[in-house]
Amino acid sequence: MSAHSDAMFASAALDRCPLMPTYAAPTVQFVRGEGSWLFDVAGKRYLDLLSGLAVTSLGHAHPEVAAVIAEQASTLLHVSNLFGNEHQGPLASTIDELLGGGGQVFFSNSGAEANECAIKLARKHAGASMGRFNVVCAYGSFHGRTLATLHATGQPTKWEAFQPLPEGFRHAAWCDLVDLERQLDDTVAAVLLEVVQGEGGVNVATTEYFTEVRRLCDERSILLMVDEVQTGLGRTGEWFAFQHVLDGARPDVVTLAKALGNGTPIGACWARADVAAAFEPGDHGSTYGGQPLAAAAARSVLSVMQRENVPERARVAGMVISERVIALPHVRDVRGLGLLLAVELDTEALGRDARAINAELLDLGVVANAITPTAIRLAPSLLISEGEIDHAITILAEVLT
Ligand code: PLP
Repeated sequence: MSAHSDAMFASAALDRCPLMPTYAAPTVQFVRGEGSWLFDVAGKRYLDLLSGLAVTSLGHAHPEVAAVIAEQASTLLHVSNLFGNEHQGPLASTIDELLGGGGQVFFSNSGAEANECAIKLARKHAGASMGRFNVVCAYGSFHGRTLATLHATGQPTKWEAFQPLPEGFRHAAWCDLVDLERQLDDTVAAVLLEVVQGEGGVNVATTEYFTEVRRLCDERSILLMVDEVQTGLGRTGEWFAFQHVLDGARPDVVTLAKALGNGTPIGACWARADVAAAFEPGDHGSTYGGQPLAAAAARSVLSVMQRENVPERARVAGMVISERVIALPHVRDVRGLGLLLAVELDTEALGRDARAINAELLDLGVVANAITPTAIRLAPSLLISEGEIDHAITILAEVLT
């Protein structure tokens, strides 16, 4: 039996793991979570500094969100989007208000699907049938694993095994205006960018770059679409990461997922209403997108987030963590925004890479992830407490000393 099977299916009496081998064998299986803490099958406690990859921004089993989910599960689970449900409209309105108003929302089940919606919308809006369909993305980006979003993702090594990928994507060097401008001919419908490349290594774009991209898009009637799947909803110290880099302007299309459901699968594609108007009934859809359970959960997530003022909490906690981590031995740099951080390590002096350091952290009960061979990514709950930060720093110091 493989390590994968050992961890996941020790009692299943199978000679092979029943799961496809798309993820490396897990070494830990969690059975319960509470706030910033996770508990494994043996009852060992872990401080979660990763939040299921920037998903559980309100921590695990948030009592208010859990109560809403339980209530909704015993009230109405699903009706299909052929009918209305009481949560979609108010949820879309809250997202629209947070984004400054004047827009409309499509609900999906994931980040990749939110981006698929954005890509289809950009093509329909620009007139793909007239030859205007290209979407320009950045190298180093991550936009999902469906065939289209895989091609949008600027990591050619991930494309190789899955050719042919759908046409219509171009890539420019990250934060390189000259390279981006070179790609903007009259076949381009949209530019799709992250503000912080999360999966790409926590690389933060500059204001100069983004404001200039906004200007170029305006000048050429190209949509600016920002993928806020990882960065949206307070994570970076603002409601949306674009607020750090667009100098009061905003994108035409914004995609969300991850934190929106705090673990309930839901994504959203927001667009300015005049852009969204390109869609007609039948152009796009999803059986589950915005179904009552996910929409109710997301409504309650946003209500807690607003009450707790999560952007401010992320900003303050992010500053505290950065200041304390940079003072630790063998830390070269801490980059990122708010509570989406990468700790760049002097792996040569440490004599081991970020993956080994991450495994040691896990052994000592801290969940993080090695985002590059030399950097550890931290994306804790936006409600992380001072005591939990103390604990994180103590364990990090122990591993790095
Ligand atoms: N976009 C960004 C910026 C992401 O970080 C991710 C996932 O990590 C995705 C899209 C894809 O989201 P999902 O895994 O929910 O499809």
